[in-house]
Amino acid sequence: MHQARFYSTGASSEVTCRLCPHSCRIEDGGKGKCRVRVNIGGLLFAAAYGYPVSMASDPIEKKPLYHFFPGREILSVGTAGCNLSCTFCQNHTISQSAVEDIPGPGYVAPLSVVTRAVSLPGNIGIAYTYNEPVVWYEYMYDIAVKARERGLKNVVVSNGYINRRPLAELLEIADAFNIDLKSFSDIFYRDVAGGSLAPVKSALKAIRKRGLHLEITHLVVTGLNDDERMFREMTGWLAGELGRDTVLHISRYFPSWRCDVPATPLPVMERFYNLAAGSLNYVYTGNMPPSPGGSDTRCAGCSRVVIRRSGYSTDAAGVDTNGNCRKCGTKIVVAG
Ligand code: SF4
Repeated sequence: MHQARFYSTGASSEVTCRLCPHSCRIEDGGKGKCRVRVNIGGLLFAAAYGYPVSMASDPIEKKPLYHFFPGREILSVGTAGCNLSCTFCQNHTISQSAVEDIPGPGYVAPLSVVTRAVSLPGNIGIAYTYNEPVVWYEYMYDIAVKARERGLKNVVVSNGYINRRPLAELLEIADAFNIDLKSFSDIFYRDVAGGSLAPVKSALKAIRKRGLHLEITHLVVTGLNDDERMFREMTGWLAGELGRDTVLHISRYFPSWRCDVPATPLPVMERFYNLAAGSLNYVYTGNMPPSPGGSDTRCAGCSRVVIRRSGYSTDAAGVDTNGNCRKCGTKIVVAG
């Protein structure tokens, strides 16, 4: 098994994991809250290292990233475990499991993942996704270093619940992030997601400060985080701290795992879309039939539709090869 990074030892065989803000104290033979970091004899091991449970080529729009190489494919990799425990998790079969509980292809070395990515025609890189990649940080990191050496892009799809030091190293090898901002309420994070809000805000600011591509997903869950005042506060913070060009994907909730409140009503999605569009230039809705303007990209400079989307089919004819609006030159996307 691969030894973990970011942990401290004490006088006994107990260890403290320093990878995410939970700071799990793990006794010999035990696992952290994420189920994939294991204390064996006073050393911490990354149990998911080398054991993907899912690997597939996906449209980049599926991550979702709408302003990063639109229309291209990316090899997507996930393992098991998560450091949060959202009651509505739509990937709970992998996120709330240990890696040994899920059948997979067996050991896949980081270089093998990269070799596969390089062999896929038109593939831009590797996305660390499906479950929370922070909990398999070492595997992600080792793949990402080799991927960059081969000219591939690294895309991290994460809840942003990570400590400062591992994040700082990740920022050196990542190219783009989609961060799932679950709520702007610390109580929601504590009671529904099993975490806290402040570290996620810090991660968002660090990614923005580093100048990496950043998009945000926010799932609106009926009765749990659909308070308009809080949503306004969140979008205002995004615009003020991260900038009006911050891309926001508002996603519709459907009952899943331990959460059986009804699906987000479509009028709520439309209202939230309109609220967000008052603060941010690029807002999209997901998991629902297209609403007016809900999945196309309009240039923030001249308002023309520059990218049209239908499902995962993308027509970026309004954007030039540098990623700028063909009519007014406004920067729209990161493009190859
Ligand atoms: S990464 Fe896992 S073991 Fe480490 S602190 Fe977070 S939940 Fe605990």
